[in-house]
Amino acid sequence: MKSLKLADCLLTEVPRRLDSERPEGTEGRFVAVFSDSVRNGRFCGLASLTDRATHPGWIYADLVEHRVAHVLSFTDSVSHAMREMDRWDEDALPVLDREGGFVGLVTRTSILRALLQQESRLVRETHRLNREILHDKEQLASWTFRLANLHEASRTLLRVLSHTSLEADLLQHGIEALTQLLQARYGAIGILDEQGGLLNFHHTGMTDQQVAGIGTFPEGRGLLGVVIREDAVLRLPELSKDPRSAGFPPGHPVMHSLLAVPISRGGRGYGRIYLCEKWEGKEFTEEDELLAKSFANSLSLVLENAREMREMQKAQQHLDYLAHFDLLTGLPNRGLIEDRLCQVLANSQRHGRKMALMFIDLDNFKGINDTYGHAAGDALLKALATVLSGVLREGDTVARLGGDEFIILLPEVDSVQDVATVAKKIVVAVREPIRLPEFDHETCVTVSVGISMFPDDGNTPESLMSRADVAMYHAKSVGKNAFRFFTTSQNVVVQQRLRLEIHLRQALARGELFLEYQPQIDIRSGRVVGFEALLRWTNEELGGVAPLEFIPVAEETGVIIPIGAWVLHTACRQAREWRRQGHALKVAVNVSAWQIHHDAEFFNTLKQCLTESGMPGDALELEITESLMVQKTETTLGLLERIKGLGVRFAMDDFGTGYSSLSYLKQLPLDVVKIDRAFIRDIVHDQNDAAIVSAILAMTRHLGLTVVAEGVETQEQVDFLKDHGCQEVQGYYYGPSISASDFAVSWLNSPPSGKNAAEM
Ligand code: C2E
Ligand code: MG
Ligand code: MG
Repeated sequence: MKSLKLADCLLTEVPRRLDSERPEGTEGRFVAVFSDSVRNGRFCGLASLTDRATHPGWIYADLVEHRVAHVLSFTDSVSHAMREMDRWDEDALPVLDREGGFVGLVTRTSILRALLQQESRLVRETHRLNREILHDKEQLASWTFRLANLHEASRTLLRVLSHTSLEADLLQHGIEALTQLLQARYGAIGILDEQGGLLNFHHTGMTDQQVAGIGTFPEGRGLLGVVIREDAVLRLPELSKDPRSAGFPPGHPVMHSLLAVPISRGGRGYGRIYLCEKWEGKEFTEEDELLAKSFANSLSLVLENAREMREMQKAQQHLDYLAHFDLLTGLPNRGLIEDRLCQVLANSQRHGRKMALMFIDLDNFKGINDTYGHAAGDALLKALATVLSGVLREGDTVARLGGDEFIILLPEVDSVQDVATVAKKIVVAVREPIRLPEFDHETCVTVSVGISMFPDDGNTPESLMSRADVAMYHAKSVGKNAFRFFTTSQNVVVQQRLRLEIHLRQALARGELFLEYQPQIDIRSGRVVGFEALLRWTNEELGGVAPLEFIPVAEETGVIIPIGAWVLHTACRQAREWRRQGHALKVAVNVSAWQIHHDAEFFNTLKQCLTESGMPGDALELEITESLMVQKTETTLGLLERIKGLGVRFAMDDFGTGYSSLSYLKQLPLDVVKIDRAFIRDIVHDQNDAAIVSAILAMTRHLGLTVVAEGVETQEQVDFLKDHGCQEVQGYYYGPSISASDFAVSWLNSPPSGKNAAEM
């Protein structure tokens, strides 16, 4: 408060008189006396009532003559004025300006009045301030109350969140609390998905039916559209009057005041909060907006946390899934099946039951992968998983160990026969042609199944797994496409196979391989027309190993490629040698399907062999088998055609043992069909075999193919074959496979002797 000034106490309306005048009865307590002029004249002094009463006859000049010295300056303080009045014992003192001009008069009363006025102003001001303070206090109390409420609401939200993952509950409670807090009639929260579509809508103040009855505007229209589009706060006293308003959609109750705030965090919009119709027709205030924003902020935090938690849960679930399932097939993986095996085993032990474990391996999966590509391989594994799952009963488990290996667990089996039935079902089901829709292709595959059983073959997961594995190898070694139960002797077989594989990898380099030659005879003339080159392997440790034993291993390990090339070169060189000596024999070389599919250099090797030996192409006959047809592709057929272009002939070896489809004969560029020796063996005694062989002979003649009968051992067989139109024969009746030098002695340099001489 400012301090009191002399000017505040000044009385300016003082009667003014000339010094020459005489006082009159009507004048006030004090009269200011001037000489010359009452306006501009010199101030002479104050004449009081007492002065006038004491000397009623005097003029003013006489009355004020002795007083003029006691004056105050305009700039003096009030306290100085008081002191001066005390000092001179005056009730009033004149106040002069700097030039000595009369300004007014200060009296004790005027000072007192001024003081009182100031006091009263002070009181009024204090009152006003008190009222303001009170108001502020009330405001503060209300804010504190609301903030406490909001805080409590937020805490409720967080509590709800920590105890429930039900976001819906949380949002519903949240919007109810906020609507109440901000004294709105209607409240709603709209939660949006990442694309901005409405995910869910929580509301209060309206029933579900009412909300359902509200129509919608085309997207983005209306004020709520503005809130969504602009991610901005809207606070309107009368929402229909906003120029952006498109009115209310059909069925919407009319509303006036609106407060809408976005719920967003870190640039991601989670949704909007809408509050409408503040109580008693009031408007939403700035504080309401602040509160709603603060609420939206807490909510966004909660929603973000919930989203992060969901993402973490999803990631965790995915990790859990990866830890237990095979991504490609969706089957349990090794880890899960091992766990399950432990459980099942413990159960079986407790209840004294049998259980079986099957180890399944796809035959020649590598070939399919390499031929058609990994995508096709994957599709095949998926299809296989479906086939395997389809065969099983409830309670059985199929899992993928990795690659083309699967495991099946039969937790409750009564007998070995039951298990054999399931295994047979598996082998048969897999053999059905499998369609790979993505590749518009049908393929035929087979599996080998090894089986171990609890308690006979082991009582730990490890022993059962390894024995089923051994049995599976055994199934492979007996020709694949089969199932085998574990037997103790198989352990030995597996060891042997391993040893064989190790030695075979070095056989070529160590010169342990050689060829023998078996004559092929024209059945009519009995003359040798060619020879089949047959591969032989003698190893220091293993001794002589039969081709049927080591060739599958060579194929599985891939060493068939260098070995096959070596066979071709060696056989062609031999043929050239004999040609040089004047014996124009054709040479038949066995070629494994593996070479055709996987030896990228196969064509070049062939060309080189022909050039090197100077042999005409048609003197070389490649014996292929029906297994080639399993992976018949454009590439394979193209390669066969290119080889055909060199003049080289193709023979279908072991005809009758495989898929035996005559349609294959038409699809391949064949010249010769070799009837397998299994049919020739009983041809004379077994009517069935006789019928099959005559049918093959009739058919091949019809197709213009030459027929060679293999494994001919007796004269009766020769007779039968000759009668039925077979052109060429090969077998012990004429001679076994022998070394090149023996062949030269027996068949080239001297006329044939022994049994085979009979026909000459
Ligand atoms: P294959 O091509 O059918 O060869 C004929 C097999 O029958 C040969 O067995 C031969 O010794 C045998 N054999 C010949 N005449 C008679 C007979 O009168 N009675 C009986 N019981 N058997 C006879 P080997 O040499 O053990 O060859 C077995 C298979 O091994 C061959 O069957 C062929 O598929 C494969 N093989 C042989 N050499 C090669 C080769 O260089 N490359 C490839 N990929 N496979 C080969
Ligand atoms: Mg052959
Ligand atoms: Mg054969």
